[in-house]
Amino acid sequence: MVHIKFTPIFFILVALLLQECTSRSTSSTSNKLLLISFDGFRWNYLDRTNTPNFDRIRKNGVQAVHGLRNAFITKTFPNHFTLVTGQWEESHGIVANSMYDPALNRSFSPHDEKANTEAVWFDQGGEPIWVTNQLQKKDGKSGVIMWVGAGAPVESVYPTKFIKFDHDFKNESKIDTMVKWFKEDGCNLGLMYFDQPDRFGHAFGPESEQVTRMIGGLDKVIGYLLDQFEKADLLHETNIIITSDHGFTSTPKEKIIYLDTFIDPETFQLESSTPVAGIWPHEGYHDAIYQNLSSATETVGHFSVYKKDDIPAHFHYTDNRRIPPIIAVADNHYSFSRHFEPGHMKGNHGYDNRLQDMHPFFIAMGPAFKSGFTVDMFQSVDVYPLMCHILGLVPAPNNGSMDVVRTLLVETETIHGNSVLLFFRKYHFGTIFVACLIFVGLITAILITIHEMRKRRKERSNMQVIMDDVEITTTDEGPANDPPTSDTSNIPLLQDQDF
Ligand SMILES: [Zn+2]
Repeated sequence: MVHIKFTPIFFILVALLLQECTSRSTSSTSNKLLLISFDGFRWNYLDRTNTPNFDRIRKNGVQAVHGLRNAFITKTFPNHFTLVTGQWEESHGIVANSMYDPALNRSFSPHDEKANTEAVWFDQGGEPIWVTNQLQKKDGKSGVIMWVGAGAPVESVYPTKFIKFDHDFKNESKIDTMVKWFKEDGCNLGLMYFDQPDRFGHAFGPESEQVTRMIGGLDKVIGYLLDQFEKADLLHETNIIITSDHGFTSTPKEKIIYLDTFIDPETFQLESSTPVAGIWPHEGYHDAIYQNLSSATETVGHFSVYKKDDIPAHFHYTDNRRIPPIIAVADNHYSFSRHFEPGHMKGNHGYDNRLQDMHPFFIAMGPAFKSGFTVDMFQSVDVYPLMCHILGLVPAPNNGSMDVVRTLLVETETIHGNSVLLFFRKYHFGTIFVACLIFVGLITAILITIHEMRKRRKERSNMQVIMDDVEITTTDEGPANDPPTSDTSNIPLLQDQDF
């Protein structure tokens, strides 16, 4: 009886909650998102030369003035995958540019075209933003140009549009392609990779005139992008994030540490070499290699050595089978080599991610972002939840946080017009569900009490009428013992309460 009258409200609430809980679907938004990476663009490169187009983005958008604290090791492949998954390297499994997987008994090289298309390397727990976009949005389409991992299926999903790494593909062609994907092919998400100024940073050193000129050249690329997006009427509705995988440091020849001075090259396999040496000792040599390197950190210095289980927790670089049993980490500006290895690079990256030199820049502009706003620094792992927020997606499990990046955004609750979803994403679905059940239960109890009180009042008033009648008629047997004639159980409980 009473319950039946609450059932529709109860079920509507439960249905709404279940829809939110199970579908991970979200309202569509007109906001588009473009993520651009310039490989090896250090946090302070914009101060090197005239950059009117980057400055236009800074002025009308946001900037992390000290860049991003990226993931250790501060190399290209791992950090590009961190940017799009929000996970540390131990979680997404791309732990170096070159790595060995003992379970697969295979090595990965960034130049191996086949390995770059294989789920076994990339589908290890991280969900790239293009996968989140396409799984959650009915009309979600992603266009990806040369981003690490986009050639391989993750959760059986490939980007809607994809161009694999091609050194000869012109910068302008990348931009023209992206405009077409957004304008004609219905993409709401785009990712673009540029391999400079990393190549010049290695070849000439990060402080070189060549790198300075390259920064000016990349500014013109951004100028072309802004022009084309404006012409296509895309600029006002596109959020553009421009960032990088890592910074750079100079690596002078005098600061080379020759590993074969301390350990016999025949006793181990070296996967990545410098500035983090990934050492896979041959059987029986583990302890000797560690001891010799450990002694060398004291006699020669300028590097640290760790057994895998002793790698400091702040590196988030332990819990993955692809992380080598021993790693040696060079101090800033120092390089590892072996006497028989040819060549030397004038600049490098890969060092401790707490070093300011290793941090990449971050600027962004668009309808979701504040104008002329800066924060000091945040983490590369925060970029994925930020992108999910802008696109109205529920992030897959990640190591990032919205704490700092939220401040970059204009009134976040109005971006999608879907404050319910934002509320549910912020708090745990299960907690909300239980809270709603308690709320419905409380309301039910209150209404039942009100109903019972009214019923009793009515009975009392009927009784009073009867008593009055008794007094008037003074009959011995009368209606005093009869039940009240009106049946209050049929009074609709919600008649004067609009829920
Ligand atoms: Zn590089």
